[in-house]
Amino acid sequence: MDFALTPEQEAVREAIAKICARFGDDYWLERDRTGQFPVELHKALADDGWLGICMPEEYGGAGLGIMEAALMMQAIAESGAGMSGASGIHMNIFGLNPVVVYGNDEQKRRMLPPLIAGKEKSCFAVTEPNTGLDTTRLKLRAERKGDRYILTGAKVWTSTAQIADKVLVLTRTTPLEEVKKKTEGLSLFYTTLDRKKVEVRLIEKMGRKAVDSNQVFFDGLEVPVEDRIGEEGRGFEYILDGMNPERILIASEAVGLGKVALARAAKYANERVVFGRPIGKNQAIQHPLAECWMELEAAHLMVMQAAWRYDKVDNGKQTGALANAAKYLAAEASFKACTQAVMTHGGYGYAKEYHVERYMREIMIPRIAPVSPQLILCYIAEQVLGLPKSY
Ligand SMILES: Cc1cc2nc3c(=O)[nH]c(=O)nc-3n(C[C@H](O)[C@H](O)[C@H](O)COP(=O)(O)OP(=O)(O)OC[C@H]3O[C@@H](n4cnc5c(N)ncnc54)[C@H](O)[C@@H]3O)c2cc1C
Repeated sequence: MDFALTPEQEAVREAIAKICARFGDDYWLERDRTGQFPVELHKALADDGWLGICMPEEYGGAGLGIMEAALMMQAIAESGAGMSGASGIHMNIFGLNPVVVYGNDEQKRRMLPPLIAGKEKSCFAVTEPNTGLDTTRLKLRAERKGDRYILTGAKVWTSTAQIADKVLVLTRTTPLEEVKKKTEGLSLFYTTLDRKKVEVRLIEKMGRKAVDSNQVFFDGLEVPVEDRIGEEGRGFEYILDGMNPERILIASEAVGLGKVALARAAKYANERVVFGRPIGKNQAIQHPLAECWMELEAAHLMVMQAAWRYDKVDNGKQTGALANAAKYLAAEASFKACTQAVMTHGGYGYAKEYHVERYMREIMIPRIAPVSPQLILCYIAEQVLGLPKSY
């Protein structure tokens, strides 16, 4: 067993940290105030080829693994960009995995290079207003008419839909009543987000204002059959392929955010003098921070183990438990670190110029999405411990 990063992995971390150093705390504070998308970071990463980190080389990617992508996303969050930086490119890193695995050659040639080059941005539309985590009950309908499908229905929480050119959308092609298993009859499309037929309505939210999340209404969007990924009716199976990498990446982003929060807290605890000594001299300040460090390190190891398993052992087939555990542990450890960072700053923790309140708002995203902590616990109980399904 070897816990050291390879020279190539170290190089990924260093290169990303160098790019992110160009976007300091003031940049992110400003983005959080105005809600302006971080186009400059997106462009800088695209220009240096990072958006295709785990995409196949023949389509312009770097052909590296989820491990390297996880290290990259952690470095982005840890730079102080937090979820505002990471979420701005998150979908573009792993989202088209179903195209890589199930798309045909023509689709890969057409869909992957523009995304990798940063010429197109995409969004990921799965969650629906009335079905939530019960994904297989989703209602957005795709009806086949000759060589097109007509999409009608609504999605919610679709991030980056304000600026996206393309959407990866999960739809129902066969009504639920007509399929044997509820996982059947769903189909996946990667298509142009034609705003004449799709209305995108911004959701005002707690944090990460720079990366929009939206209600998206499809009102008869015509999608050519060439934009369907894989076979009709097997979309749910395809989307599962991207779920483990997504959990690993978001877990790694959470660890990065926790680390920057902790670093800020430790710095402040050394500098702030009250009662004639640095507040960091008090064990009541030190110990919670020491606990946060240990919990973040443990979560990071779980992230790395899940990424290693995905890349090296079984290409994702048995990664579910580890990816879910990594996402759960990282989000909770980071939430504690972000909260503790605010508390360590006392009243100043509540002031925007110290940045930790932004981290605390942002860490709620990896806690809630893409799957809730409760549903992860259900998964581990059922799939690992063999307990009966509770819902
Ligand atoms: C900032 C942000 C960005 C997002 N971006 C995207 C995106 O780009 N694309 C996309 O498709 N989605 C996105 N999402 C959606 C996200 O994945 C969902 O919010 C999440 O999956 C939870 O679904 P829900 O909100 O409908 O919760 P619900 O399904 O309504 O659940 C509500 C609560 O009930 C609990 N619960 C439900 N059933 C059970 C049960 N059986 N046992 C125990 N507890 C249960 C859940 O754990 C949760 O705490 C985003 C969400 C946020 C907040």
